[in-house]
Amino acid sequence: MHFVPPEYAKPKPKAILFGAIHGDEPIGVYCLNKLMEELLSMPPGRETWIIPALNIDGLAGGSKNNANNVDLNRSFASANFSTDHKPGYFPGNTAEGEPEAHALSKLIDETGATRLIALHSPFRTVNWDGAGEPLALAMAEHNGYGASSDIGYPTPGSFGSKYGVDRGCEVITLEIPLLEEEEAWRQNRGALRFALDLPV
Ligand SMILES: [Zn+2]
Repeated sequence: MHFVPPEYAKPKPKAILFGAIHGDEPIGVYCLNKLMEELLSMPPGRETWIIPALNIDGLAGGSKNNANNVDLNRSFASANFSTDHKPGYFPGNTAEGEPEAHALSKLIDETGATRLIALHSPFRTVNWDGAGEPLALAMAEHNGYGASSDIGYPTPGSFGSKYGVDRGCEVITLEIPLLEEEEAWRQNRGALRFALDLPV
């Protein structure tokens, strides 16, 4: 869904938020749907697109990968994209060959959005790539998760590799622990609203 800020708002870099690039991480879908409900009555401070579930086949089937068994978060056309992979992390035969990754990269190109926030689970951290450090630190103040620049393992072809490392965007990987849905929203509402320049 596309949200436009009020006319008096000073233009700021556009934002895109998405959940469930991994289909077995539905907590992000819940939180983004709650955020969208709030944005209907109070628009964000910057132009914003929200995609609650990127990997809808995976979400429907409860699997990390998409229907072609591709880990979409290894499939982006980053400098470190590689078809070599660990079992379960197939990046596809070509970068962005899957419709979900292709559509997301097209949306980013067409909008020029540079504040890019991916919701994942089950870790508990606000991870950043590229120019995302100040935003990550601020979001971590709100959810208390702590901020980190290293998720602890290599991520070739990841969203953060392409848009953070290669392009220098503000990329946030918000990792939400396994919580009851309402509790996950309660913990992350302030961080997500802050990222869209809303009162928290
Ligand atoms: Zn994930």
